[in-house]
Amino acid sequence: MEEYFCPKCKEKLLELPPYEGKFPSWLVAPPLNYECPHGHGPFWKFEVLQEKDFRCFGEGYREVPGSAGQVREFVITVGLVSGYEGGEPVSTGKVGDAACEWMIKKARDKKPFLTGVLSPGEVLYSFPITSDSGESWTVGREPVVKFSGEVVPLYNSSLTDGEVIELLNDLAATLGEAAGQVRVYLRYLDKVWILQKKGSKTPQEDMTRASLSYEKE
Ligand SMILES: [Zn+2]
Repeated sequence: MEEYFCPKCKEKLLELPPYEGKFPSWLVAPPLNYECPHGHGPFWKFEVLQEKDFRCFGEGYREVPGSAGQVREFVITVGLVSGYEGGEPVSTGKVGDAACEWMIKKARDKKPFLTGVLSPGEVLYSFPITSDSGESWTVGREPVVKFSGEVVPLYNSSLTDGEVIELLNDLAATLGEAAGQVRVYLRYLDKVWILQKKGSKTPQEDMTRASLSYEKE
């Protein structure tokens, strides 16, 4: 058992079994509020754990213990037009719902998950069209959503980069499925990669090879 004391008068406030999980502690036990019998507090459990004086900023804001850490950002980009060439448009809300369901499932299973911000965007690209009169280039514009976030030190500091990549692939596949996408684009730290639905092809696949051979000439 671990004992927690009032930071002001050292009165023992509670005893808890040591926390050993790698998952966000609030999934295992929600943060609890404690008051000292001598009128100190209330203290949040993590405040009791820290037992230090916090510097306040502005009108009483202070840094949350355990919230500071290395930046570990990720972005998942998902198209909002299913398939290729005039497919059905998918709403941002549908992708958001899929992300929320994914988080809820992870939380229910007491598994770690990633949170982030869903932002609308538009992808712009150019590609060649081959016709009887030769090759010309045109542009494509498609609505996309970006689910961007970071590995939050307060809740997920114990996740390794490998575990984060596993979670990103799982989430990207879920979002890609919800939006009917052949490909989903990922970025984590200084790496980018693409997931592609099994058994599917993109119009760009042949084109990429054509462009590569073109560059070499
Ligand atoms: Zn006290």
